[in-house]
Amino acid sequence: MAFRIVANCTNCWACLPLCPHEAIRAATPHFEIDTARCTECAGDYADPQCASICPVEGAIVDSTGQALNPPGSLTGLSPEFLTLPSTP
Ligand code: SF4
Ligand code: SF4
Repeated sequence: MAFRIVANCTNCWACLPLCPHEAIRAATPHFEIDTARCTECAGDYADPQCASICPVEGAIVDSTGQALNPPGSLTGLSPEFLTLPSTP
């Protein structure tokens, strides 16, 4: 049971100090979660602290690859508005 940080991460540092298990590491090209330390915040908080603060949609995913903050969840924009229309 652990989350992962993926390429969308902008290395903003917001999540790192909030992790109750020091599972988040500053790394390049993007921050990383030590899956051996991540508990998904179970027993510590009602919500995963990293995903709660992360300002980037799709930057943190669960063990099945599902984004904790999927497209549109933070911006309020429907995903179809996030794709530019192709030019004729
Ligand atoms: S879900 Fe909780 S324990 Fe896991 S990395 Fe995020 S803040 Fe740390
Ligand atoms: S809060 Fe999100 S964007 Fe910022 S470092 Fe953590 S995972 Fe990356």
